[in-house]
This record gives sequence, C-alpha cells and structure tokens, in this order.
Amino acid sequence: MNAHQHFIGGTWTGSEATLPVINPSHGQEMARIARGGAAEIDAAVKAGHAAMDGEWGRLDAASRGRLMLKLAELIRRDAEILAQMESEDVGKPLTLARNDAQVCARYFEYYGGAADKVHGDTIPFQNGFTVMTVYEPHGVVGVIVPWNYPLQMTGRSVAPALAMGNAVVLKPAEDTSLSALHLAKLAAEAGFPAGSLNVVTGLGEEAGAALASHKGIHHISFTGSREVGVLIQTAAAKNTIPVTLELGGKSPQVVFADADLSEAGTVIVKAITQNAGQTCSAGSRVVIEDKIYDSFTADLAKRFKDLRVGSGEQDLDLGPVVNAKQCERVQSYIDLARRDGLTILAEGELGTNVPGDGYYVRPTLIGDVPPDHRLAQEEIFGPVLVAIRVRDEAEALAVANGTEYGLAAGIWTQDLGKALRLSKGIKSGQVFVNNYGAGGGVELPFGGVKGSGHGREKGFEALYGFGAMKMIAIKH
Ligand code: NAD
Repeated sequence: MNAHQHFIGGTWTGSEATLPVINPSHGQEMARIARGGAAEIDAAVKAGHAAMDGEWGRLDAASRGRLMLKLAELIRRDAEILAQMESEDVGKPLTLARNDAQVCARYFEYYGGAADKVHGDTIPFQNGFTVMTVYEPHGVVGVIVPWNYPLQMTGRSVAPALAMGNAVVLKPAEDTSLSALHLAKLAAEAGFPAGSLNVVTGLGEEAGAALASHKGIHHISFTGSREVGVLIQTAAAKNTIPVTLELGGKSPQVVFADADLSEAGTVIVKAITQNAGQTCSAGSRVVIEDKIYDSFTADLAKRFKDLRVGSGEQDLDLGPVVNAKQCERVQSYIDLARRDGLTILAEGELGTNVPGDGYYVRPTLIGDVPPDHRLAQEEIFGPVLVAIRVRDEAEALAVANGTEYGLAAGIWTQDLGKALRLSKGIKSGQVFVNNYGAGGGVELPFGGVKGSGHGREKGFEALYGFGAMKMIAIKH
C-alpha cells in the first residue's frame, strides 16, 4: 500500500517509515501515512522561512484573502470527498462529517474576507511625534491539531494564521491526517505559493515534539489534551515564543426548574453524544436543581436509550470512538462507575449490523455522581454524561466551577437575573444561555481559562493572536 506523503515546500515527499491509518468503524487498516520526524519538520520550517522571504511574504493582504476565498470554494467543491474521507478516518457519522467540511470552508471564507481588514491605529502623543501601530505576521507558525474534528480544527487555526500572512507548518493527529493532506492539495490548486502551507504527518512525540521545540518557529497553536499542552508550553517557553493552547474541558450544563426542559433535554443529550462525546466543549456534567432532578434525569435516560450507535456510513446518532485505546479508556470510566456503585441511569443501543471489530461505546448516563468523584472531574472524551444534584443557585455555581477546567458552560433558566449572575460567575471561556454551542459559529471567539488553556481561536479576535503589534514613533 502506497503511503500518503508530506507536503513540504510545495512538493510531496515521503519518509522511510510509515504509520497505519485505521478506520474505527471496522478496525481495519485503510491507508498508510508517512512517519515524519525531526528532519521533515526541519525541512518544512525552512520551507516556511523561504516562503516568508519570497512570493508569499510579498503578497498584500487582499491577495492573500483572494487565495483563501479560492481555497474555500475548492473545499466546497470537494466537500463530499472530504466528508467521506473524514467519516472513514474518524468514524464519525457522514452527516456530521459533511458539516465539518462546510465549516472548514467557512473558516477560509471568513478569514479570507478578514485578511485585509486588520489595521493598526494612530496614537495621540506629544507635539512633534506621529505614532502608529501596525500588525505583522509572527513568521512561521506551528499548528498541531487533534483527531476529533480534523477538518474543523485545521481550518480554525490555519486560516487565521495564513490570513495574517504567516507561513504554516501543520502537524495533524497521527490517527486522522488524511483530510489535512487533501487540504494541502487544494491549497496548491488554489495557487498558494510553495512553503506557505506545509503538512508533516507523524507521531506526536516525534514530529509534534520536533515542531514544538524547533528554534525556527515564531508561534505555536496547539489544540489537544492538557498533558501535551503543558509540554508544548514548556517547549515554547524555552524559545520564548507565544503559544495558544486549546485544551480539554469538563463543561457543566446547569439546569433550573424554570427552564424549557424539553429543549434543554434535546440539546444536552446532543452536546455529550455528538461525535461520540469526543468534543472538547462537550457538556459532560449536567448539574440539576434538586426539585426537578428525578423527572429531568428520567427524561434524559429515555433519550439516551433511544440513541443509536453505528458505523460512519450507517450515519446514525453516534459513530465509534477514534481508536482502540480511546475505546478502552472510555469503557474504563463506565466500569469505574459500576465498581464505585454509582447509578447507571441509561445505556444507548448499538445499531443493527454494527461491525464487530469497530471501537464502539454505548452512550451512558450516570446519576447522582458526587461532584468530586473522578467521573465528575476528569475529561472522559466519550459519550458519558454524569448527573449531579444541587440544592440551589449557589451550590450550582460552586459545582460548575469545581473542576480544573474552564472551557464552556450551559445555563438553562427563564430567569434573566439568574442567567446573568451565573454567566458572570462561571469561570469559562464561553457561556451559553438556553442553548449550547450556538451552532459552532466560526465568528464566535472560542478558548479556555484555567486548565482549558489560553488564547482565543475563532472570530476576528483570533487574527490578532496570529500577529504581532509593532509601534512606530516618528519624530518630525
Ligand atoms: P493529544 O494531546 O494526544 O494530541 C493532540 C495533537 O498533539 C496530535 O496531533 C498529537 O500527535 C500531538 N502530540 C502528542 N504528543 C505530543 C508531543 N509530545 N509533542 C507535540 N505534539 C504532540 O490530544 P488528542 O487525544 O488528539 O485530542 C483530544 C484532546 O484534545 C482532548 O483533551 C480535547 O478536549 C482536546 N481538544 C480541545 C479543543 C479546544 O478547542 N479546546 C478542541 C478539540 C480537542
């Protein structure tokens, strides 16, 4: 089987070693990718520098924007190819993968349109001075993305980095690199100059670590686990370069008796089961006011039992999780719940004809979980929802804030005062009132506080993170 190659300096190039690409729906090898390491990363960083010194660095912002709009158009043209690829690679239901392809196109469209709208300022100062600020690209940016939404996460970081005029070295996750390689192909077709976007595939501890510690990069944008985020920030510190960390979460959904409980139930179940729960901002703890706890968890349990799990192409409510290790990990949390005597309120069904060798987990709802239990504290990254009972608003706030994470939160109430107090009191990067995720809009700044990371991706704000402000003071 021929392995997919890296894309470095506008050229496809292999590595001697390769890695298997497994389809999680069946557990079968479907392709191989090149296993890059320090040498390939070094070549890609050098290609990035050459691009910054060459044609890419000389392009004005409007021209960069036009290339990005062209790329968005090509992603839409190939949306079905990308969706099929992503569904097979990640195991996600085809409908979800189709959405991911559209969102990826939208990132390039949004940031393509924004490329020539970043401008500095003039600052009133002493007579005899004119002072201005300008934004410049960092230079060569390293982007490391996870396997859960490869197309979306790649678009989310690569698009603003390119819009700001940086060259990019992208290291996709080893389990799911195929769509990033297809994007590189489309970027070349759109006319991006050689070296502006480079993709090196390989293992995190090899290619990823080599990229994070490379002395030739000027910024690193990392999306992934907290453990690896700490390694990335340490590596960035050694080279004193800025870093954006988009890490995990244990996001609360706080439900009060006065909420639209039917709508809350629908959204809360979707928010923990979409993509088989492998979503950084998955609402993985439902914090419920005591007086509706029993009836609301009964409603959630019914919804969990109705969920159908199947392969990516069966396109049901959930697919498998991404690999065997993740499957064991998620299952180990469900086993822990049983061992510790917690109440399993519901388990979803595997659909008929689910391939036997796939990595399937039954979506599981666990009741009356103590807020300090491991299941209520650790990111499971699977379709497992823990329900926590609280007496009142004050206890809800304490529970919501009682983990090391701070990525997202949902608040369900008709009481505007309560919604505002909690929105301000909850320590997280984003809060959703009577909705969750706001449809994932690319326009909406996104990021974490506490153990969920720092810096913002998405929205106009993200552009500034991919640039450096320079102050110019002219005496005349
Ligand atoms: P991971 O940290 O294991 O891997 C992420 C990426 O880092 C992969 O490309 C991997 O190859 C690379 N990597 C691994 N070890 C490395 C090392 N030592 N040096 C450099 N790179 C290395 O995460 P994952 O398991 O792929 O993804 C799941 C995690 O990502 C979850 O914690 C999830 O919450 C988080 N996530 C966060 C967001 C967000 O926006 N906050 C979005 C998606 C996923």
